Amino acid sequence: MLVQVIGFAAVSVKEGILAVFSTEVKPLRSREFVMDAGKSVKSALPTARVSWTIIKATRLPLRKRVPVSERDSSDFFHFTQHHLDTAAKLIELPDYVEAILSEPKNEVIVHFPVRMDDGSCRLFKGYRIQHNNLLGPFKGGLRFHASTCLDDLKALAMLMTVKCALLEIPFGGAKGGIKCDPHELSQPELQRLTRRFTHALGANIGPEYDIPAPDMGTNAQVMVWIMDTYMNTAGYGIRNQQQRVVTGKTLECGGSRGREKATSQGLVHCIAQWATDTGLDLEGKTALLQGYGNVGSHAAMILSRLGVSVVGVGDHTGYMLNHEGFNPHRLAEHVRGQGAVANYPKGERCSREEFFAAEADILIPAALHNQVGVEEACSLKVKLVAEGANGPVTPDGDEVLRDRGIHVIPDLLGNAGGVTVSYYEWVQNGRNEHWDLGKVEARLEKAMTSAYRRVDQFAKEHGCSMRTAAYARALERLRRVYKQRSIFP
Ligand code: NAD
Repeated sequence: MLVQVIGFAAVSVKEGILAVFSTEVKPLRSREFVMDAGKSVKSALPTARVSWTIIKATRLPLRKRVPVSERDSSDFFHFTQHHLDTAAKLIELPDYVEAILSEPKNEVIVHFPVRMDDGSCRLFKGYRIQHNNLLGPFKGGLRFHASTCLDDLKALAMLMTVKCALLEIPFGGAKGGIKCDPHELSQPELQRLTRRFTHALGANIGPEYDIPAPDMGTNAQVMVWIMDTYMNTAGYGIRNQQQRVVTGKTLECGGSRGREKATSQGLVHCIAQWATDTGLDLEGKTALLQGYGNVGSHAAMILSRLGVSVVGVGDHTGYMLNHEGFNPHRLAEHVRGQGAVANYPKGERCSREEFFAAEADILIPAALHNQVGVEEACSLKVKLVAEGANGPVTPDGDEVLRDRGIHVIPDLLGNAGGVTVSYYEWVQNGRNEHWDLGKVEARLEKAMTSAYRRVDQFAKEHGCSMRTAAYARALERLRRVYKQRSIFP
């Protein structure tokens, strides 16, 4: 269907996507806008672009509404490249810096056998992707998940490089993991898997070289197994220096106070900044949480102290709504015991579609990437998407959110609290210090609010999204260091 639109004549269309062409902006640019059923072109356009004269609008097939099950991993890699590229163009990043950042420095892939409880032997595939170490040792989480693959980890490792640069932490970026379903493994199997993986990685990790941390499917216990295996195989050395090979450890084994909830605490600091800027009182507001693991459950508990109630939750086993608000502590207890939100008695089961369309003020994706595409972005009723997960919104989902005026706190800012407190842990281990919770929390709050302000200021000055601004800020820092070190004269 072709629709001719002159000026801002109100044209009602059925739900669909319109490609709108303009002659006013040079060079000629085309953009796509998602229309809600019955809305006019005028009301769907962002006010910032009202000076555009629309000369032609084309109804496009709904090809971009890709169901989540069909969004494949290589998409995620290309999506992060797309974000990098957009910011690189905006700040005129030298080609050589973009070229260096377009691929990881090292891709380590290992295969290793593990004895299972039934006596059989299974071969596992593990990865450590070291993206960049310009600013300091490689740093990033380890993911144990059935979907773990090379392309995803390359994207996640690159995100770590830009995240550390944005937060001004002296670390580079890395990510790793094992393709496995930890829910299917017993604790002894998980321990053998972790120790075998650490053996297989050998000298590819180290306290001054590459420092893993928890991510999806891993936790403080897994970090302690890695630390112990490393300390027993790396030869004699100063104990607290070897402890620094991983962060996110238990308190007793050298972990930092406040690390477990740090990612969620950092995200809530960003949400609080956004609320202050928009004049919104968080008391009495509601949130939807996708993922109720480390990031999701702590976010729910911290938000509840600010008067925000979680009215929808979901994980790999399904979704639930409770208009009265879930008790975040009881739900966390249930998930610890059962391994999932399914069968929690104080809520109504709902479909994934109903979850994303539920009435609430804030959505916090805290599970996998590629969860909010065009489909979900069209149905959301929230004012804010605060990304706890890495890469939860696809670029076309992002466009829809922007056109609908839904604010996004991007992953590399929103979930940076985790790596920030990991850095504090690494520093404490190195100095043999144990900071109290107040000191960790005060430093984290300062780091997160000042990063938020830097990103917000850039976004306002350049009229770009917070995501582009966050990438741009990080890339500017990397550019300065590459230039000063004359790495590519
Ligand atoms: P976790 O393993 O503790 O929890 C993951 C949650 O996601 C679980 O509730 C799980 O059921 C759910 N999930 C898994 N597959 C799903 C699916 N297909 N659909 C819906 N839900 C699904 O992991 P986490 O540490 O909370 O990490 C969550 C996200 O936050 C990840 O994207 C991770 O990269 C990101 N992140 C974590 C940290 C950290 O410190 N742990 C730091 C920065 C970013």
